Amino acid sequence: DPIFQVERVGKSYKNAKVSEKVLHDVTFGVERGEIVAILGPSGCGKSTLLNLLGGFERPDEGTVLFEGKPVDGPSRNCVMIFQQYGLLPWRTVRKNVEIGLERTGLTAGERRRRAEEYIERVGLSDRIDHFPHQLSGGMQQRVALARALAVRPKVLLMDEPFGALDTFNRYALQNELLRLQESEKQTVVLVTHDIDEAVFLADRILVMVSGPGRIRREIRIPDYKP
Ligand code: ADP
Ligand code: ADP
Repeated sequence: DPIFQVERVGKSYKNAKVSEKVLHDVTFGVERGEIVAILGPSGCGKSTLLNLLGGFERPDEGTVLFEGKPVDGPSRNCVMIFQQYGLLPWRTVRKNVEIGLERTGLTAGERRRRAEEYIERVGLSDRIDHFPHQLSGGMQQRVALARALAVRPKVLLMDEPFGALDTFNRYALQNELLRLQESEKQTVVLVTHDIDEAVFLADRILVMVSGPGRIRREIRIPDYKP
């Protein structure tokens, strides 16, 4: 059974007293271990859809089910990585990752080891005591990835995660995501307007159009992954 089931979802925002319908009749599922890309032009409601999955917004119509239950707020099961890395500038890499593990029931020692484990996985052990401003953009994005993964979420939600990176870093992190899918069966839903990225990463692409935002078609990518 799907990990997410989105059923006939509609969503409007009130701007200057005018209600704008941002999503209309959106229906799809996400299977466990799948990478799903939401592709579409700017403003078509991709981020809104991701926010509904993450529990940061609620639908006006329809339902969003996570493991069969309505999503009723943010949870550690689904961790969101934002466009801006969202690192705390006055905290070290280590601290930035540990902070994500507060209130998980882990002891201080466990949090420390968990943070070290994931910082190593993204290849930043030698930078563990650096502050974000001492790192390149690619490195900061890797810290954000480590912080999200350290929580061991069932689903990773990513909003244009690699948009700000140069080609080399983008390829490195995209490959890391594929390795993660392979080794951990990590479920990922990512938003992008980059068709190449969607085709490279996703098992399935939901192509959205605007006015109001809706899914125009679903494309299953043939399995060519090595
Ligand atoms: P995308 O991610 O595809 O660029 P968004 O989901 O960010 O699209 O935005 C879709 C539409 O909803 C846009 O017209 C945007 O202005 C509007 N919108 C998004 N978030 C809000 C909000 N919090 N309040 C009001 N309008 C919003
Ligand atoms: P990457 O390709 O890893 O994103 P860059 O090409 O941006 O890195 O930078 C090359 C190297 O310069 C990096 O590996 C990093 O060690 C160092 N570096 C980049 N930006 C900074 C910075 N703001 N402060 C200190 N060192 C930096």
